Amino acid sequence: MKRLTILVIAGGAVIGLAAGSWILRGRRPRTAPLSAGVLRGANVLLVTIDTLRADHVGAYGSTRGVTPTLDRLAAEGLRFETTYTHVPLTLPSHTALMTGAYPFVNGVRDNGSFRFDGGVPTLATTLKAAGYRTGAFVGAFVLDARFGLNAGFDVYDDKYGSRPAGGELSVLERPADKVLSAAVSWITDAGRVRDAGIVRDTSQPWFAWAHLYDPHEPYDPPEPFRARYASDPYSGEIAFADAQLGAALDRLTQTGHLAHTLVIVAADHGESLGDHQERTHGLFAYDSTLRVPLVLWAPPVVQPGVFRGVARLVDVMPTVLDLVAVIAPAPSGRSLRPFVSGERAPDDPGSYFETLNANLTRNWAPLAGLVSGGFKLIDLPIPELYDLGADPGEQVNLYGRRQEIAKPIERQLDSLRAGAKPVAATQVDRDTVQRLQSLGYVVAPAARPARSFTARDDPKTLVALSNRLDEALDALKGGTPAVAERILKELIAARPDFTIAYDRLALLYRETSRLQTAIETLESASRNGYSDAASLATLGGYLQEAGNFERSVEVLQAALKLNPAEPEAYEKLGITYTRMGRYADAHRMFDHMLSIAPNSATTYNNLGSLYLTEHRYADAVQSLTRAVAIDPALAGAHNGLGVAYARLGQMDRAIAEWGKALELRPDLADARYNLEQAKK
Ligand SMILES: [Zn+2]
Repeated sequence: MKRLTILVIAGGAVIGLAAGSWILRGRRPRTAPLSAGVLRGANVLLVTIDTLRADHVGAYGSTRGVTPTLDRLAAEGLRFETTYTHVPLTLPSHTALMTGAYPFVNGVRDNGSFRFDGGVPTLATTLKAAGYRTGAFVGAFVLDARFGLNAGFDVYDDKYGSRPAGGELSVLERPADKVLSAAVSWITDAGRVRDAGIVRDTSQPWFAWAHLYDPHEPYDPPEPFRARYASDPYSGEIAFADAQLGAALDRLTQTGHLAHTLVIVAADHGESLGDHQERTHGLFAYDSTLRVPLVLWAPPVVQPGVFRGVARLVDVMPTVLDLVAVIAPAPSGRSLRPFVSGERAPDDPGSYFETLNANLTRNWAPLAGLVSGGFKLIDLPIPELYDLGADPGEQVNLYGRRQEIAKPIERQLDSLRAGAKPVAATQVDRDTVQRLQSLGYVVAPAARPARSFTARDDPKTLVALSNRLDEALDALKGGTPAVAERILKELIAARPDFTIAYDRLALLYRETSRLQTAIETLESASRNGYSDAASLATLGGYLQEAGNFERSVEVLQAALKLNPAEPEAYEKLGITYTRMGRYADAHRMFDHMLSIAPNSATTYNNLGSLYLTEHRYADAVQSLTRAVAIDPALAGAHNGLGVAYARLGQMDRAIAEWGKALELRPDLADARYNLEQAKK
């Protein structure tokens, strides 16, 4: 096994350990202090475990015993006792971690409707520029390449299957074992160059990121974890992910790939599990979801210990780069290394956080705040202040009583946000507004600051509605649409500006063969000014399904003017153009989709259908073969492939493809008809 080269960089004056901030376990370090660049040239393995609540990890005090791997890494490495995320939502949290920039700097404020535009360097772009091989292996659609975090990665493996027909609410994810085996294969292959048949190692370091989505709901761990954690399936998912991580690290140790590697494990956010009446995450910003585990592991260079100062996910990128001696700016974060090494006394820069999902999709008050000096300030119409040391459960709101603490934090928050980018991906121009109005649509006004909302719009006031929305979605997924319909109508009656409720109600109507009612639901929301780019994209898709192509194009184009990062709109426009015979326009849309989402099997499938329509059968075969290579379970693509082969006179292959399509989806009428015709 290759030993680590330890570089000691002189010049960093050691000013001694700050009292109580940094506690070394065991003996004094035998190796050099943690100097800048001490891990120069080391590989970097970043593992993010989605939705992992800090207090469910043994090293953070849990007695459930579900995280032996994380506990071992924490015991052998450096554990950060108090680490904050900046958004309790997957895409914006990972973007903050990767860029070292707060959401209002990197521009990614919510899942789904934002795309990272590459405006600031990321860990991947920086390490790649420094000569690293870079590979990402993500576990769920929420981190799909189309949302921009693929920047700087040579390989961005976001293959987790396609949206199953009729199941638009189902989660596209793949389990930790699949993610990690792809990552381990890439790591063990990375640096091995096949040159004229001879495999040789190169000295090129690698950066790998593995994203394990398992603990995210639905909590449905595989056996034996399902049985073992029957009464606590969330812990079962954590235990499964932890066990898979342990197995992957063992494999990498056996092959010598961890010998010169910095391993970082973090979560993107926690899970409320009913705390403050919040079921999952994303609505509030209490410590159940805001505090995350963070561990750095690189023995023997990084000595075992616990850092008790404030760490933030925006600090991860600068800390890693500091250790591996790569220079890049981190707009909001700072390297934690000088504090850990004792070169500097720990500071307290404050940790910014926000969650805007309810604001952007329901028109509720936006939530933002700051953790500073052991207090948490939450800026909402009903403002909150908690003393995190005395009241870790955040039960006693001190805002009214402790104005001398609240006001300075409020000012700090305001000055932090003073130069913030606006929330909307683009400003809505007058032309777009007029076009929408001419179509009978009105769009929601630009986001307002928290203090212009009232207590009626505070998520604390509305948390019960949030839980009712979850119940409606569960009912819809669980096959009781009548229950879901009743709840969704009730929610719209309570809050007529509940944009996402219209969207879900429309989905329900469409899935229960009431397409016209679905369209009317979204159009009525729109007439009243409750539409956003996402609901217009949904409407455009339904208009296309109803055969109203002209209007579908108008609405989808309007959605894209509102938010050019609304990828669904490109895909749907491509389908509408195909059906209208506007083939060149359709190609333009699918080409754009594939440029931002190179592993989109559904796009290859739609492109294949376009080629079939154009009678370009060889091209169709190529495109549809790509679709099924990425997602072998895509029944429609197998059916299309059968048609293309049949047109090319290759009936054996055609029959085989239709057979596969029917195996996957016995209800696929087209495939059945094709097969019957072929056998006549
Ligand atoms: Zn997440």
